[in-house]
Amino acid sequence: MASVCFGKEGYKLLGLDGRIRYESDGSYTALLDYVYKDISALPGLMEQYIEKIIDIETFQLNGRQCNESDYDEIKELFASMHPFCKHNFVDIFADAIGAYFNTSLIRKKHYENQSDSLCDKGWYIQKIKELLSPITQQSAEFADRYYNDYLEWIGAYDDDEYADTMILFGDAAHPVVGFIDELRTQYAIKQFLLFALDTEVPTLSTLSVAQRVWLYGELSYFFDASWYDGEKRKKYNMEAIKHVSLVPIYGFQDTQPYDNSAFFNETSLLELFSPSRHVLTAPINDNPLTKDMTEALGRLVEHTKTYCHAEPYEKYEIKNLRQLLFLEIMQMIQNNVTIKKCEHCDMYFIPPNNRIKFCERLVDCQNVTCSTIGSDRKFQQRMKDEPELDAYNRAYKTRHARVRRANAGSKNKLHDELDDWRIEAKKKMHEVKEGKLSLVEYEAWLKQK
Ligand SMILES: [Zn+2]
Repeated sequence: MASVCFGKEGYKLLGLDGRIRYESDGSYTALLDYVYKDISALPGLMEQYIEKIIDIETFQLNGRQCNESDYDEIKELFASMHPFCKHNFVDIFADAIGAYFNTSLIRKKHYENQSDSLCDKGWYIQKIKELLSPITQQSAEFADRYYNDYLEWIGAYDDDEYADTMILFGDAAHPVVGFIDELRTQYAIKQFLLFALDTEVPTLSTLSVAQRVWLYGELSYFFDASWYDGEKRKKYNMEAIKHVSLVPIYGFQDTQPYDNSAFFNETSLLELFSPSRHVLTAPINDNPLTKDMTEALGRLVEHTKTYCHAEPYEKYEIKNLRQLLFLEIMQMIQNNVTIKKCEHCDMYFIPPNNRIKFCERLVDCQNVTCSTIGSDRKFQQRMKDEPELDAYNRAYKTRHARVRRANAGSKNKLHDELDDWRIEAKKKMHEVKEGKLSLVEYEAWLKQK
């Protein structure tokens, strides 16, 4: 479906055409926000969409023409979920429709003993194409793929009803859930973060990060993937295929395609380096370069300085969001990044140091962050706990305002006086803390001086 290039700082997500679709800034924000997106509406929205086109009980087409406005809510939700979902919306939505249709069919076949006509290819393709055509012009291609999935599913599990039930439906009593992969992925990623990187999980934090990752791997294999084999297991085990390559990422430095005509228009290069006709095989070190060759090479070096800001990267082939986020979390592990929950919004963030308790997210459309609210709250609490500090602060504010209002001539003198007062006032505040001076006496002192 896509590929992703991981460098030192974050990753670049490429589409099938090799163009950059999204660049992360290395802050892991999209990942940490993703696990808290409310996607619980997805199954209901899928059902609504399907029902506009087909009766899922009888599989009769309604004959209704659907268009983009019939799934705009889903599209909007995807756009806010994660950049990967935004840029691969059609593929993910189509796959979810295929899975929904297939699981509905298999349920019918198994639990209601419908006839084998449900497996007829012509019948199948007609229905699924109708479901897919509002979202893609390649509905025929997708339809073929889902039909093959369907055959594989019924073939693989026909004689093992138990496994079938477990994997596809949970159990017979539960309805088919739309976007089940999306729901499961979010849950799995949240759990992976908790297991691998959350520093505040009491029991797990006695393990090393490597041990925690190992434990998660064992558990997910056991609960999530042990029923699958081959490709399906890979998907759930979050494996990704790595490519190590020197081939430049198309448009690596920006989202515009890189214009390499200047590079290839350096025609003198080929002539100059012939007869080998290849720069890299011409013996640059053994034979002294001619003046022309040196100049041509110089132009290429200048060209490279202008166009290439690339860093070494590792390229992975990915099929879904789960693989992408798995790789990103692996990168966090390698970079010794740890996370904890913000004490205000209860969402994961990466604290710059262990003492930081609040994140920098903006609070519900207000223009303040959790950390501002958090420090305010802490400050208010401290004022309550320490009345002598409260008294000091009030007195200081009054005096500071007086200095601010003073005219330029006396400002410096008043400033010095305020400094002296602060030292004295803090000394007395400590005396109150130590019980050597009463709060009433201290407040009286603050007022008179
Ligand atoms: Zn927060």
